[in-house]
Amino acid sequence: MLAQDVIGDLKRLVGPANVLTAKEDLLCYSFDGTAALQQMPGCVLFVSTTEEVAKVLTFANAAKLPVVTRGSGTGLSGGSLPSPDCIVLCTVRMAKILELDRANLTMMVEPGVTTLQVADAAAAAGLFYPPDPGSMKISTIGGNVAENSGGLRGLKYGITRNYIMGLEVVLPDGEILWTGNKCVKDVAGYSLKDIFIGSEGTLGVITKVLLKLIPKPAAKKTMVATFSQMDHAADAVSAIIAAQIIPCTMEFLDRTTIHCVEDYAKIGLPLDCEALLLIETDGHPAAVADEAARMEKICREKGCMEVRMARDTAEADKLASARRSAFSALARVAPTTILEDATVPRSELAKMIRFVAAVAKKYQLRIGTFGHMGDGNLHPTFLTDERNKEEMHRVEEAFKEIFDEAIRLGGTITGEHGVGLAKKSFLPKFLGDAQMRVHRELRHILDPNGILNPGKMFD
Ligand SMILES: Cc1cc2nc3c(=O)[nH]c(=O)nc-3n(C[C@H](O)[C@H](O)[C@H](O)COP(=O)(O)OP(=O)(O)OC[C@H]3O[C@@H](n4cnc5c(N)ncnc54)[C@H](O)[C@@H]3O)c2cc1C
Repeated sequence: MLAQDVIGDLKRLVGPANVLTAKEDLLCYSFDGTAALQQMPGCVLFVSTTEEVAKVLTFANAAKLPVVTRGSGTGLSGGSLPSPDCIVLCTVRMAKILELDRANLTMMVEPGVTTLQVADAAAAAGLFYPPDPGSMKISTIGGNVAENSGGLRGLKYGITRNYIMGLEVVLPDGEILWTGNKCVKDVAGYSLKDIFIGSEGTLGVITKVLLKLIPKPAAKKTMVATFSQMDHAADAVSAIIAAQIIPCTMEFLDRTTIHCVEDYAKIGLPLDCEALLLIETDGHPAAVADEAARMEKICREKGCMEVRMARDTAEADKLASARRSAFSALARVAPTTILEDATVPRSELAKMIRFVAAVAKKYQLRIGTFGHMGDGNLHPTFLTDERNKEEMHRVEEAFKEIFDEAIRLGGTITGEHGVGLAKKSFLPKFLGDAQMRVHRELRHILDPNGILNPGKMFD
């Protein structure tokens, strides 16, 4: 519990209506999208301006109170999980699109704007904001920057970092820092904005984001290819990349996921296959037609059972929704869904998929795997029940093996969901001593009192 005088001070800083302290309200902010993690905060604050954020951090820093910044709470590594008796600083009401600059192809937004609102505003201006995490309907841009989120279009267009031109950040002591600008080129000083991208709420609170937009692709084609063997699907992906085709999306679902999605969304997916690839190509109409034809040919050569080409936008959206609903569909079949994002170089994908299946068998666990196949980014998803302690132990052991194997194959412990609490114990082994030391020193310089997101990423 936070002391009453502290609550009183916070109410004076942001207004009493913007401070939640009732147990039933705090409960809603005691978890994020990560399974099996929960912690009650001391209070929840809604901030509306950069100045309010600065006042709150100045106060918290002086009083050495922990602050956990929160967007929509969809994070999958426990990043916005409260620390005990912390202030949850929620940015969802900082939700204005401040400027769309058509001359420079940029958009300035507050952190609480959702990813979808950004994408829609760009599209309304005939432009394109490509990063599209599966959670984009509700995830905030602040959360996307803090997690350096990826998405389905990462293969061709990159991830959030590739679209950040500038950031306004409130540092832990309350100082307001602006880094970056609208220049396409700028090499003056260290690229400080890059330190805050992916910093998971540990180095500052992001209060404005200057985004890069690009021209909207003129055409798009969507297809679904089904395979009787996962290896054939992985081979098709490798062959497409080797043919120097970079589709904007190359996602896959395994058999368990296909069945769950079909049961949930009734899309009409074929149920007699082991793997399904959802492929989208976009760009100039002639290039799109050519790439689609070449990819269809490659899939057939690699032994696919069927290729279904979407006839129109409605059908394309329906097929794409198969992948977008994968997590929700899997979440329906078991009380606890633990979704991970082990990532390997694309050349190692088939090996990694086989390894995940073998680990699930070894530990007798139910697993559905889907993911961004073109990026080597897998989402092995264990369907379990957190009340079953013995099974949860087996899940933990299985994940340890999966992450060890990902590292062994030259991959990473997280391709997009971040370290947070969930991957904290794996980080030192992955980064090594020198990188861990620089991480610690950097954090200590910016946050000497350790008030921002304490206990996350590393101690
Ligand atoms: C169904 C589903 C699908 C998903 N699909 C994807 C996907 O395809 N790709 C992907 O990368 N992720 C995905 N995610 C994970 C998640 O949506 C992303 O990490 C997203 O960026 C989190 O945004 P949020 O607003 O919910 O942030 P939160 O969960 O609230 O916070 C995430 C982290 O960011 C920090 N943070 C939030 N706002 C700020 C701010 N203004 N300043 C500083 N730090 C801040 C928090 O402290 C925390 O550490 C998915 C999640 C779900 C539930």
